Amino acid sequence: MDIKKIVKLSQGYSRDYRITKGKKFRLKDFDPDDTGDLKAEDKPRAKEALQIGVQALSEFQEKLYAQQRWGLLLIFQAMDAAGKDGAIKHVLSGINPQGCSVSSFKAPSTEDLNHDFLWRCQKRLPERGMFGIFNRSYYEEVLVVRVHPEFLHRQKLPPKLVTKSIWQERYRDIRNFESFQSRNGFVIRKFFLYVSKDEQKRRFMSRLDEPSKNWKFSAADATEREHWDEYMSAYQDMIRETATEEAPWYVVPADNKWYTHVIVAAAIIDALDSLGLAYPEIDADMRKQLQQARTALESS
Ligand code: ATP
Ligand code: MG
Repeated sequence: MDIKKIVKLSQGYSRDYRITKGKKFRLKDFDPDDTGDLKAEDKPRAKEALQIGVQALSEFQEKLYAQQRWGLLLIFQAMDAAGKDGAIKHVLSGINPQGCSVSSFKAPSTEDLNHDFLWRCQKRLPERGMFGIFNRSYYEEVLVVRVHPEFLHRQKLPPKLVTKSIWQERYRDIRNFESFQSRNGFVIRKFFLYVSKDEQKRRFMSRLDEPSKNWKFSAADATEREHWDEYMSAYQDMIRETATEEAPWYVVPADNKWYTHVIVAAAIIDALDSLGLAYPEIDADMRKQLQQARTALESS
C-alpha cells in the first residue's frame, strides 16, 4: 500500500480520539469498548492494518533519523493493566532500536525528589532524530500525586508553595514545558489508554489465574482500584488542562487491545506525516565527494 493511502487511513482512524482543546472534554463521551467501524470479526484485518502501519512507521523513522532535525516524544498514561507495555511493544516493533529510547517512570527516588518535578523526565527527552517513549511521565504528578496527597507531602516543597492552586500551577508548567519543546522541534503526542473498570478486573483475574502472568500482578494495583473514580476525575482534568494543538491527547479505547494498537499507530503516523520528512538533499560539494570516493574505491 502506498504511503499516502496509509496516511489517509491513519488520519481517519485517529481523528475521533484526538483532543486538542480540552475545555469541553468529558470522559463520559468516550467508550473504552469502542472499536469504531470495526467489529470483533474484523480483528484479523485490524492486525494486518497494524503490520502495514508498523512498516510505515519504520520508514518515517529512518527519515527522521537521517534528517536529525525533529524529535518525537510519545507519552503513555493509563491505569494498571490498560496495556501500555503491549501498545509500546506492538506499535513500535518495527522501529530501529538505535533510533529510540524507552523510559519508565515509577515512584520517584530521593534524588528525583531533591529536584523539581520535571527533572527526571527532562533527562530522558529524545535527541533530534530520535523517538523517545515515556511509559508514565511527569503527568503522574497530577494523577497519582493528586489522588494520594501524602505523595505531595513527601516532595520536600517549601510549605509556602503548596497551596490550593498547586494543580493549576502544575498544569500551566506542563503546558509551558510542552510548548517550549514544540517550538524547539520536539513533537509531542500523548496517549491515555482508556480501559474500563470491568476489563481491568478481568485482566487482573487472568494475572492471578495464569501462572505465566502471575509476575505481573501486584497487590497494590488492586488497592488502587478503590480510587477509580478519583483517578478518572484526575484524568479528565488533566486532559482538559493540557490538551493543546501542538501536544494533543489521544483518548484511546483500551478494552480491545487490537483496536488500541491500530489507533496508537495511526496517531503516530499522522504526527510524522505532518513533518514533511525527507532524506537530506545532497549538495554539489557532497556529490563531488561521493564521486571522488567512488573513483578511489574503484582503483583500490
Ligand atoms: P507494570 O505494572 O506494567 O510493571 P507500571 O508502570 O505500573 O508497570 P509499577 O512499578 O507497577 O509500574 O508502578 C509504578 C508506580 O509508580 C505507579 O503506581 C505510579 O503511579 C507510581 N508513580 C509514578 N510516578 C510517580 C510519582 N511522581 N509519584 C508517586 N508515584 C509515582
Ligand atoms: Mg503496575
